[in-house]
Amino acid sequence: MTTSRLAIEGGTPVRKQLLPYGRQTITETDIQAVVEVLKSDFLTTGPAVNQFEDNLATVTGTPQVAAVSSGTAALHTMYASCGIKSGDEVIVPAITFAATANAVAYLGAKPIFADVKPDTLLIDPKSVENLISAKTRAIVGVDFAGQIADYPTLRDIAADRPIHILADAAHSLGATRDSERVGQISDAAIFSFHPVKHVAAGEGGAIASTNPDLIERCKTFRNHGINADHRTRAEKGTWFYEMRELGFNYRLSDIHAALGSSQLATLDSNIRRRNEIAKIYDTAFADSEVVTPLATAPNSLNSYHIYVVQLELDSLKVGRSEVFAALRAENIGVNVHYIPVPWHPYYQRQGFEPGNWPSAENAYERMITLPIWPGMTDSDANDVIAAIEKIVHAFRR
Ligand SMILES: *Cc1c(COP(=O)(O)O)cnc(C)c1O
Repeated sequence: MTTSRLAIEGGTPVRKQLLPYGRQTITETDIQAVVEVLKSDFLTTGPAVNQFEDNLATVTGTPQVAAVSSGTAALHTMYASCGIKSGDEVIVPAITFAATANAVAYLGAKPIFADVKPDTLLIDPKSVENLISAKTRAIVGVDFAGQIADYPTLRDIAADRPIHILADAAHSLGATRDSERVGQISDAAIFSFHPVKHVAAGEGGAIASTNPDLIERCKTFRNHGINADHRTRAEKGTWFYEMRELGFNYRLSDIHAALGSSQLATLDSNIRRRNEIAKIYDTAFADSEVVTPLATAPNSLNSYHIYVVQLELDSLKVGRSEVFAALRAENIGVNVHYIPVPWHPYYQRQGFEPGNWPSAENAYERMITLPIWPGMTDSDANDVIAAIEKIVHAFRR
């Protein structure tokens, strides 16, 4: 296999059909859960939403959770409910999905991009330290790939300043750090239920916090800033409500919530399976001089939303783009997470200039995301490894 002709040069691909980098698993039970809601009295703001919030509270180890319509809505809601406003600064890592920063901009506040640690691609506390100013109101860790960021150190850096320590935990539902669950370790955490994430609800998001007041503010913000939803009013037999703040319609429907709850039932077994696949990759690349997986701290349970490797480009005759194209030709559905956010034209127009995030920018030039999802077989993982070995052999310097 390792000496055969690359598919990109006309050879036979390692796989006949594309192996996607991620894929949701929908069971008959999931389908039944959605059908139940469709036959019930409530399609939105009903009991399935409350049930989903209770289930999420258990998984995240927090007393209360607010479900919203997407992970991005969850970021906007979390930031607004922490009082982030025009003129404030919020520190976010340069390597993340754009929404982490965009939701700061929604509020007229300014995202400030911190560099990441080269081995984990988690926000680098040293970089954060240099960026804190009198305007800093929050530091957002992103639990990149499924590993919880170093919130205790971020908290130490913030010291007694009025700075919220927040988690974009879109990748890390079910992960732990020092036995603490995602949700418990920061002032608040957000999740996404987009189909590529751990729990697929179609679309959906949530905010978890150990602070019940913050969750109350989130629930008001997601419902136009109105203090009581229509179900609470019906229960009290009153028409009266007040709009106290400017809010949005970020409600999650009962249809999505029921699917989310049903999906949560398999979260633990799915994370176990993701860890088994990660182990197959880790073992295969342990002695590689070309392929370096991200590091996971020994005190962490990584939930492996994605499996990212960095190429040692000095050992190759080609760059990441050529390796990426060759892997796609072998029918391995690789991806890249992420282009540094300050490199996007929108942020360039805000005055951010490439060159300020050396670790993030170096990582971006050599990173590749390999397929990992619970329905993958060992043999699928071995196809990925075979394709990488084949390509590395052909492109070795
Ligand atoms: C997916 C994701 C989001 C946004 O979630 P949506 O549900 O797609 O809006 C935010 N941050 C990170 C790190 C993500 O991966």
